[in-house]
Amino acid sequence: MAQEAKIPQATAKRLPLYYRYLKNLYTSGKTRVSSAELSEAVQVDSATIWRDFSYFGALGKKGYGYNVQYLLSFLRETLDQDELTKVALIGVGNLGTAFLHYNFLKNNNTKIEMAFDVDQEKIGTSIGDVTVFSLDDLEEILTQEEVEVIILTVPAPVAQSITDRLVQAKVKGILNFTPSRLHVPADIRVHHIDLAVELQSLVYFLKHYSNQNDDEENL
Ligand code: ATP
Repeated sequence: MAQEAKIPQATAKRLPLYYRYLKNLYTSGKTRVSSAELSEAVQVDSATIWRDFSYFGALGKKGYGYNVQYLLSFLRETLDQDELTKVALIGVGNLGTAFLHYNFLKNNNTKIEMAFDVDQEKIGTSIGDVTVFSLDDLEEILTQEEVEVIILTVPAPVAQSITDRLVQAKVKGILNFTPSRLHVPADIRVHHIDLAVELQSLVYFLKHYSNQNDDEENL
């Protein structure tokens, strides 16, 4: 991601959202998209989209909108869509199992290649086409397969100790679905998704704000 340093984090987080929508447009044969249409589809206001796109020199023209192909090629390059990123999942419970069945490749170039668990009943089985390995072999397999991105769906009390092992195994990014706040060195990226908190926050916003778009900066 050559241009990453120049793009603010809030913008970077919205890029996959734009990418997914623009890809659908492109597939359906559309060559341009109006600012209003894009805004409506991704639920981000036009001014924010304009500012986001201005970071990579794609300024929409009045009465024309944005060029779909130009935006797509930029986003594909920036998001490394041409390169398949291997992902490992740790914790094959309800949530983990759902992720193993979910086809991430449909929308982007990430693929869960392997899973880990401590449950003897699960080790050695396959879910979807993903094999479940013993957590004992974590470091060895991650290093051998050069996996640098992890989805963590283990019980919260074990999340930090597994993370410490992931740090040793030189992973670069963790998508943390446990409620536990993980401590990692500065060069490792953790994105935290707590579904219970997100749901609670949605309900809070519905109760306290009439305009749901007040929160759009957090997209
Ligand atoms: P979920 O929270 O995903 O709905 P669950 O309620 O089915 O899961 P949990 O107790 O949260 O089950 O455990 C999730 C998975 O993590 C289980 O498959 C469990 O065997 C596994 N697990 C528990 N401890 C560890 C560990 N130390 N390392 C790896 N996996 C673990």
